[in-house]
Amino acid sequence: MKYESSVGVSVGESARSLLAGVELGGTKCVCILGSGPDDIRDQVSVPTGERDSTLARINSILDGWRDTHGPFAGLGLASFGPLDLRRESKTFGHITSTVKPGWEGTDVLGRLGGHRNLPVNINTDVNGAALAEGRWGAARGLDDFAYITVGTGIGVGLIVAGRTVFGCNHTELGHIRIARLPGDTWPGICQFHGDCLEGLASGPAIGARAGLPGSAIPADSPVWEPVTAALGQLLQTILLATAPRRILIGGGVVVSRPELMTRLRAQLVKSLNGYLDLDDLTGGVDHYVVPPGLGALAGPLGALVLAADAACVANNQPGC
Ligand code: ZN
Repeated sequence: MKYESSVGVSVGESARSLLAGVELGGTKCVCILGSGPDDIRDQVSVPTGERDSTLARINSILDGWRDTHGPFAGLGLASFGPLDLRRESKTFGHITSTVKPGWEGTDVLGRLGGHRNLPVNINTDVNGAALAEGRWGAARGLDDFAYITVGTGIGVGLIVAGRTVFGCNHTELGHIRIARLPGDTWPGICQFHGDCLEGLASGPAIGARAGLPGSAIPADSPVWEPVTAALGQLLQTILLATAPRRILIGGGVVVSRPELMTRLRAQLVKSLNGYLDLDDLTGGVDHYVVPPGLGALAGPLGALVLAADAACVANNQPGC
């Protein structure tokens, strides 16, 4: 029995009982209580500030729910990262090399779940969101798909054969190297790589390049050309690497710029240059590259999927 998170676990008895989740994001953490999108009993946001006080507030919310509603069947933690997700590691469940001040090395699993004596599961925030989209959203019924979010950072949740991809650790496609457009020497803003994908095409990168707040950048600004080219390379890379049946792309940048979806579809077709027949393989790019279905709820619901998986494994249910 594997313990990595899957989209295929049926919402059985334990999942219908009370589950708790926490989505830890770069700007806010969302605590959620319930069992799915039609059963959200409470949801509380906490600003992601100084580490110890933020974790204390989250623990206080979870404790309050437990005291009011009774014990949880499982707890899911969907966290920004990178995370150490190697179960044999001494630092399993810790944040590793984050750029968020004061959070490097944080034992998220231990500090939020270690003392609770209940099934706990942890994964990245974007993997959690992908799992939620597979269970309830725009990838429902699919075992092979990708979920991309383009916002403060760029994250990709890759689902292959119904499970989040996991090998030596989780994947980090937001930081792939990008072939630059001719003559484009803008250095990018990633603290680790400069002009990786996130360093070129995340919301802060776009704003830094334009010298304007994102909302003030005109739709016809030349700043969108390298952004479209970089994200198009991500789409092609994902298609060629894992052959997903659908690619969901959302996040603040894409949601606020509807024209970007059209551009990205065109860019993928242009970039493939006839090498693959998307119409034949996928029914056409308009059906292949699509918006997510759960909106801002994908992240918190992802934490509930992780909680359901933890409960499923703990109860030896089939399909976990
Ligand atoms: Zn990077």
